[in-house]
Amino acid sequence: MQPLTESQIRHSFINCSKGEAQRLNLPAGLSAWEWSAEIFLGWIDPKSPQRGYAVIETEDGPRGIVLAKTERRGSGAAQMCQFCMTLHPGSGVSLYSAARPSARTGQHNTLGTYLCADLRCSDYTLGRRRPAGIRQMEETMTLEDRRERTLEKARGFVARLQHEA
Ligand SMILES: [Zn+2]
Repeated sequence: MQPLTESQIRHSFINCSKGEAQRLNLPAGLSAWEWSAEIFLGWIDPKSPQRGYAVIETEDGPRGIVLAKTERRGSGAAQMCQFCMTLHPGSGVSLYSAARPSARTGQHNTLGTYLCADLRCSDYTLGRRRPAGIRQMEETMTLEDRRERTLEKARGFVARLQHEA
């Protein structure tokens, strides 16, 4: 992805207040970030591990979303990340929910999805990280196609968040 400044990142958020976007904790080492190695920028809040963020390039410019980790219940069975299609054992994937930009307090107005718990889909997509102890489905796609698929899935989530009532 194209390099973004701190100000561009903070202005990209669509589902939190301006004040919240100004205060949220950015990933460490942003100035030395290797942007070309990222499909989208995903990170866990360094101070509150139940919160994560994703900044995704769209045709309308970068769009940032605040994600809240939802407590996992049940068997802890393997789940697939809905952005990068990586299969994780129970602890490697989290159910995240994002408030819709139109959401008002008290309304059940969020969109949930299973994602890599550490939001490092870029690394999983491009093979820099692999979940331990689980067999992935055979992938016949090239790395470039996988990169494109992850980006499209992430963009699709942003679009659903913005446009569904
Ligand atoms: Zn992922």
